[in-house]
Amino acid sequence: MFDALSERLGSIFDGLTGRGALSDKDVSEALREIRVALLEADVALPVVKEFVEKVKTRAVGEEVIRSVKPGQQVIKIVYDALVDMLGADEEESHLRVDTPPAVVMMAGLQGSGKTTTTGKIAKRLADRGKKKVLLASLDVRRPAAMEQLAILAKQAGETVSSLPIIAGQLPADIARRAMQAAKIGGYDVLILDTAGRTSIDEQMMAEAAEIAAIANPSEVLLVADALTGQDAVETARRFHERLPLTGLVLTRMDGDGRGGAALSMRAVTGLPIKFLGVGEKLDGLDAFDAKRVAGRILG
Ligand code: GDP
Repeated sequence: MFDALSERLGSIFDGLTGRGALSDKDVSEALREIRVALLEADVALPVVKEFVEKVKTRAVGEEVIRSVKPGQQVIKIVYDALVDMLGADEEESHLRVDTPPAVVMMAGLQGSGKTTTTGKIAKRLADRGKKKVLLASLDVRRPAAMEQLAILAKQAGETVSSLPIIAGQLPADIARRAMQAAKIGGYDVLILDTAGRTSIDEQMMAEAAEIAAIANPSEVLLVADALTGQDAVETARRFHERLPLTGLVLTRMDGDGRGGAALSMRAVTGLPIKFLGVGEKLDGLDAFDAKRVAGRILG
């Protein structure tokens, strides 16, 4: 995750530290290199521009150039700007599932890792929050997806169950049945795994919007595949136009992607990143923490 970017920034900073005074020119040169490094990491252009401007305003000042360790100061400024860009701190990435039965709705394109992430979140809520969790698949066109969710529920823990499948029901009917079952069964959290398609279409959006209206979820999470880069950012933007999204989950962060999509997501959509998917197994889910990610990028 972010290895190439981390290496690039590391070598830029090596050129700034371990020496005395920095000139405005040194700082401008470093900023130019940082700009290229971020663009090569696939961070969206407007986000890069804003980032560089922010660092410039703070760095190209008397204060930095006159300070005892100007190189370290520039690194600190870049770190702070990265944390700002990433946005979510621990508080913000916290899942709001406090009033039982709280509904979490999962949305995303087919193949983004939505169903796997549903299982991962259930396991996390069961293991760490000692929650009783009900999972329901609304993907009526793909019986295999429904069965996959039932299997994941079994793997996720003793307090995790899946709603029994009844053939022929519409997604809205399943959502209502799931809400009823969650209430009667004393569940703390109900997670609705909505249908995904290979591309965004009106029918999928209308269906998801209807479910959101029926279920009144406390969280609506968009799952996006980080390996798809700027497409993931565009997907998030388009879903956010139609659904009351509350947060993002970026999957396949364990892959060898450049990571820039993750860095742009918050700034482009205004939504907090709640989790990062870091593997195929059910424990491959990290709570997102901007400070930790920024620290990792800056080594
Ligand atoms: P859905 O169609 O969106 O429900 O996608 P699935 O949950 O079925 O996931 C599609 C594939 O991606 C499966 O093979 C998952 O094991 C895999 N997958 C999901 N999340 C991650 C992740 O964070 N890392 C990796 N490496 N694979 C993942």
